[in-house]
Amino acid sequence: MAKIEPLLIDYHCHLDLYPNYEEQFRACNENQIATLAVTTIPRAWPRNKELAGCSPMVRVGVGLHPQLAAEHAQELGLFEKYLRETRYVAEVGLDAGPAYYSTYGLQKEVFEDILRLCSKAGGKILSVHAVRATRDVLKMVEAHLTGTTSRVVLHWFTGSASEAREAAELGCYFSINQSMLEKPTAARLLAAMPRERLLTETDGPFTKTANRPAVPSDVERTVDSLAGVLNSSVGETRSLLYSNLIALEMPVGQTGASDA
Ligand code: MN
Repeated sequence: MAKIEPLLIDYHCHLDLYPNYEEQFRACNENQIATLAVTTIPRAWPRNKELAGCSPMVRVGVGLHPQLAAEHAQELGLFEKYLRETRYVAEVGLDAGPAYYSTYGLQKEVFEDILRLCSKAGGKILSVHAVRATRDVLKMVEAHLTGTTSRVVLHWFTGSASEAREAAELGCYFSINQSMLEKPTAARLLAAMPRERLLTETDGPFTKTANRPAVPSDVERTVDSLAGVLNSSVGETRSLLYSNLIALEMPVGQTGASDA
């Protein structure tokens, strides 16, 4: 069967958190949206994997969300076990916002363990959350993943333009959502991110489109907005995003050129 190319990319969406989650998994396939289904605790992995089995457009990450890391740190063993079954690690990271600052020390221990496991395993793709923690995330990524074959996608980047440049130097990708593009600083921030490192995301159902939880197909609007910020056409932006996805997911060591 010929491989179908995705029309859109939602590289960070909590498909399992919608009331009609089965339908959401199916819709990604029907609408040809390459989706990274992120999960928040390791225990969510088996069911997500099963749901993605019928939707080739959906990749599933094994995750341990920083906001839940303190409560679920004992699931790290399970995380390690499921890590063997997937290339994708999502959602992980650090959250130093007021509501989670009290667990920040423990979050760092958990994230460090996760980075160590990814470094050892190699070839992983991580979707990373950083709230008021960009500096620490970059430091830890540099310490643990430099020179490895694992790659980081910074989801909903809220750092400065200079931090974005630093992240790019470390090889990071950026998944851009609608709310990032609606900020007055969007153009300045985007200018600090290499175009070949950009992807799109919804972070649904935690974000809204038209006053309802965003779904992967809403990423179409984000591509339109992104095209505006990049001063590029929608068609060019779609092909840019698609080639970025291919480059990110290509096993390290291979190039896009076909063999002579
Ligand atoms: Mn998320």
